[in-house]
Amino acid sequence: MAMMMKLNGSVGIGGNNIRPDVVAVQTLLAQRGQRPGAADGICGPKTIGAIRAFQATFLRMPDGLISVNGPTWQRLTGSGGGAGVGGALGPAGSGLGPLGPVGSGLGKLPGAQVPLPPKDGNMTTPVARPPANTFNVGLKAVSNQMMKSMFGMPRDSFTQDCQPMNNAALKRNVVTDNVGSFKATGLRPAVASLKQVYGEIAGALPQLAPRIGTAGMLCCRLQRRSKTAVSNHSWGTAIDLTINGVLDKYGDGKVQYGLTLIAPIFNRHGWYWGAAFGTEDGMHFEASVELANKIKAQLS
Ligand SMILES: [Zn+2]
Repeated sequence: MAMMMKLNGSVGIGGNNIRPDVVAVQTLLAQRGQRPGAADGICGPKTIGAIRAFQATFLRMPDGLISVNGPTWQRLTGSGGGAGVGGALGPAGSGLGPLGPVGSGLGKLPGAQVPLPPKDGNMTTPVARPPANTFNVGLKAVSNQMMKSMFGMPRDSFTQDCQPMNNAALKRNVVTDNVGSFKATGLRPAVASLKQVYGEIAGALPQLAPRIGTAGMLCCRLQRRSKTAVSNHSWGTAIDLTINGVLDKYGDGKVQYGLTLIAPIFNRHGWYWGAAFGTEDGMHFEASVELANKIKAQLS
């Protein structure tokens, strides 16, 4: 079987996902013993899961994305450092051979485990929270003090309930806009970023994207179970997501499977995932220090 051994674009979460590239990746993944689903050229959750599972055999931080001629592609084609598969795939079944030199020593770290699709394949099924070093990569969580000094307080007093924002300078930057499958109200640059994130999700995970909804973005209130800490929803820089209308259960240390697929895309855009909080909050994404700075720079 003649098969191109070059990708025209990246494949996976947030990738270009050009159909023949996706077919090639799906075929190679299957030959490596992964389960990407049918080689249909559509980069859905099964294919993403298979990419991450394959990456977990040699990467500490599987990102679900295969870049053109990057390490994952080289491992997949056996072209990484002389594994000798060369320019052709050879007969079916031969692909289970050596993965190439395992010099990295990272292959069997506990941290290399990533959630695999649950048996029922359901996006809302809770799975173990991924290892801490595999998400929020390169991001720092904001503190209340930092938010206060960057943006000012959204209002004077807070309770556990949503109350209106009454900081006029902030308020004039609040918009409600269509993010894709849902509307969100928050600071304009934050909502604009969400639209970019959603666009990537729609490209990489077309079956999941329309199932995503929200349980709220702007909401001036205290953090759950706190009498003093102000929620980042108060600034309109945090959002709670639903899948099929279902909220992830708060604080159980598990997260909906679908959230594990979209978290890397949020990560790349500077959104810090609440799965990392002491009390796991898997439905929650908020602007990190890095994104908060960008938002601040774009306020009027
Ligand atoms: Zn939240």
